[in-house]
Amino acid sequence: MISRYTMQERLAGWGPEGQAHLAGSTVVVLGLGGLGGAAAMLLARAGVGRLRLVDPDRVALENLHRQLLYDEPDASQAAPKAQAAARHLDGINSEITLEAMAEEFQAGNGRELLQGADLVLDCLDRPQPRFVLNEFCVELGLPWVHAGVVAAQGQVLVLRPGLTPCLRCWFSNPGEPALTSERDGILGPAAAIMASLQANEALKLLLGRDDALLTGMLVVRLWPPSFREIRFSRGGQEPCPVCGY
Ligand SMILES: [Zn+2]
Repeated sequence: MISRYTMQERLAGWGPEGQAHLAGSTVVVLGLGGLGGAAAMLLARAGVGRLRLVDPDRVALENLHRQLLYDEPDASQAAPKAQAAARHLDGINSEITLEAMAEEFQAGNGRELLQGADLVLDCLDRPQPRFVLNEFCVELGLPWVHAGVVAAQGQVLVLRPGLTPCLRCWFSNPGEPALTSERDGILGPAAAIMASLQANEALKLLLGRDDALLTGMLVVRLWPPSFREIRFSRGGQEPCPVCGY
């Protein structure tokens, strides 16, 4: 019998067991813009059982070139992204549980927003809350997938406390970024590609396919195209103040 998940259950190492595992999983998606909306959509379609959708912003017309989950009525109503995302995702997969949280992720509410999570997707658009998330994930032993996009490029990184370096290990001196969306914009396909790569790593983590995970930071440039995986090197640095690696 063909079910809605048959075509993915046929993938090697997936099967009904993997599908049942996804159905029992909770993923927190922080940020519901070009990355988070598309990544959440892929996880909803794949049948991840519970998605907690976190974003304090409202949909605006200038979002629509890259934020695949929203439409013109959302923009004209300035709909809260968390609620609009939950509504659209419920139309895509009504079998899963969707929690809309129109809140900004920060130190004060972070623990509550991460409660019960198996995995977190970092689809945030600023560095500061990412480092807050990093500290929570190290403390809670919670795996997460970081993604970022600006202009025609982006990066994806899998972070597993105790098994990989943390975000602070990678970015010990987060200075001013070379590119900013305010100045350099964001290419729609770049956001969708990075979201797909992020959802791909998330599915591997949820299915226990550790053998297939990214091991370094994948840096993708699209104009002109290149995919490069950077290996972590501690060099002569002091041990990390957050994770001790
Ligand atoms: Zn670290």
